[in-house]
Amino acid sequence: MAKKTEVKDYIRTIVDFPHEGILFRDVTTLFADPRGFRMAIDQMLHSYAGERIDKVIGLEARGFILGGAIAHQLSVGFVPVRKKGKLPGTTISEEYKLEYGEAIVEIHDDAIQPGEKILLVDDLLATGGTAEAGIKLVERLGGEIIGCVFIIDLPDLGGRKRLENLGMDVTVLCE
Ligand code: IMP
Repeated sequence: MAKKTEVKDYIRTIVDFPHEGILFRDVTTLFADPRGFRMAIDQMLHSYAGERIDKVIGLEARGFILGGAIAHQLSVGFVPVRKKGKLPGTTISEEYKLEYGEAIVEIHDDAIQPGEKILLVDDLLATGGTAEAGIKLVERLGGEIIGCVFIIDLPDLGGRKRLENLGMDVTVLCE
């Protein structure tokens, strides 16, 4: 087997998951590999070296794994954005459109203090709907997003443009 030298070499594609016709990018093989996982975390942080980051926000569910590792690396706090009904405390919520139907994500209303600088993290950027909902939650609590970072971008789905049109700084490691 060819030597793995880049983050994308550790990601596999599963055909017809979760529905027929979908090519699912599976990052569990990246997470399971000690070199691959470290490479991904290092590269996700590279463009933010030297910048003030007060908290890391991770989007459910793979954003928790990446965001937790990044927050630990930076010695800052981690805050989850979760699907509706999962967080135990008082929350605020945002609804957004999916391909079929709607979804709702939530954040604890005391998780971010006004003026805090936030790095938003997830595994994959597709339409950008999930990330935009996360951005809105952070901004409603007075946080300032200094960057949005993903391992994979699916450029045909337009998520990167959508976030950049909101004024976001977007970092992706591969397509
Ligand atoms: P978006 O809201 O359309 O940008 O979709 C991004 C969200 O869907 C992220 O939270 C991803 O984890 C998830 N997602 C969509 N497609 C894939 C995939 O192929 N692999 C892993 N996650 C995916």
